[in-house]
Amino acid sequence: MTDKITWLFILLLALAVSACSQPKDPVFHDQFFAFGTLIDITLYGVEPGIAETISSQIEADFNALHTEWHAWQPGPILSLNEKLAQHRPATVKPGIIHLLAEANRLSLASKGLFNPVIGNLIELWGFHDNALPIGTLPDSAAIENLVAENPAVDDITIESDRVVTRNAVVAYDLGGFAKGLAIDRAIERLRDSGIEHAIINAGGDLRAIGQRGERPWRIGIRHPREPGILASIEIAGDDSVFTSGDYERFFEVDGKRYHHIIDPRSGYPASETTSVTVIHSDAATADAAATALFVAGPDHWQIAAKNMGIRFVMLIDSQGIIHMNPAMQSRIQLDPELDATVILGDPLQ
Ligand code: AMP
Ligand code: MG
Repeated sequence: MTDKITWLFILLLALAVSACSQPKDPVFHDQFFAFGTLIDITLYGVEPGIAETISSQIEADFNALHTEWHAWQPGPILSLNEKLAQHRPATVKPGIIHLLAEANRLSLASKGLFNPVIGNLIELWGFHDNALPIGTLPDSAAIENLVAENPAVDDITIESDRVVTRNAVVAYDLGGFAKGLAIDRAIERLRDSGIEHAIINAGGDLRAIGQRGERPWRIGIRHPREPGILASIEIAGDDSVFTSGDYERFFEVDGKRYHHIIDPRSGYPASETTSVTVIHSDAATADAAATALFVAGPDHWQIAAKNMGIRFVMLIDSQGIIHMNPAMQSRIQLDPELDATVILGDPLQ
C-alpha cells in the first residue's frame, strides 16, 4: 500500500514538473464584432497582460472608426454627404480629410472602378442597411439617371479642411476600403507597441505581419460557393490578403443574384465575377483593389491591377474559371481536390 502511495506521489510529481516545463501557448486570440463582421486578433509571443490591453485598444479603435466612417448613420460622412447634395461646401476635421483624400487617390488609380462616391447608387440597391435587403429591384430609371450624372471623385475638390463638389449626386460610401484602412491603423498600433508578429483579420480580409514563431502564417481563402477553403497562402513579413465576393451581401429575384459590388458604369452589380483575391502590402490598397478588380472582371483585371500597382491576383469568374497571374500562382496553394479550370495570365510587371 505504502509502495502504491509512493508511486502515485512520484507520478503526480512527474506530471506537475512536465506541466511546468511546457512552454506557455505563445499565441493570443481575441475576437469582437465591428464593421458588420467578426474581427479576429492573433498575436504571437506577446505577454498575455500586454496582449489583453492592446487588443482592447484595437477594439475601441475599430468601434470609433466604424461610427466615424459610417455612410448612413449620423456622423461626419453623413453630414458631409448632406452638404455635398446641396452643393454646399463642407468643413471636415483633418482625420476625415485624410480618409477622403486616400479614397479619392485609390479611385483615380483604379480609373473609377473603385468609386467611393456612388453612395446614392448603393442606397438605391438597398445595401445601406445592416439587414440583408428583401428582394425588390430598384427602379431602372432611377439607376439610369444616377449613372448619367456620373458621380466621380474628380467632381470633388479638397482645399485644406473644405470639401466642395461640382456634382450634387456624389455621396461618399467608404465600404469598399474602410475595413482595410482600419486594419492598417490596428497594425500601426501594434507596431508602435513593439509587437511584430500578428494577424488582424476582419471576416476573412486580413493583414499579417512577422510570422508564427519559426513558421510563416498560413491563411485560408474561402470557397465562394461551397463551405470550406479554396486555397491557402503563406505570409512571412508583411502582407494583406483581401477578397471581394458576390456572396457577402446579396439578394435574389427570380433566381438571379444581386450583390453589393456595383459597376459604377452601369449602376448594376458587376456580373462577370464571383470573387477576387489580391495580396498587397497595405490593407487599404488591397481592399480598394479587390473591389476595383471585381468590377473590372475576367477580361480587364490585369490592366486594373497594373494601374493600382497590384502584383498578386486571383479572380474567379461567373463560370467558376480561376484566373491568376504567375506570381500569384507561385504563392497560392489551391485545394488539391478542386476541380476547376485555371487560366494563367501574363506577368503583371
Ligand atoms: P468590398 O466587400 O470591399 O468589395 O466592398 C463592398 C462595399 O463597397 C459595398 O457594400 C459598398 O458599400 C461599396 N461599393 C460597392 N461597389 C463599389 C465600387 N464600385 N467602388 C467602391 N465601393 C463600392
Ligand atoms: Mg474592398
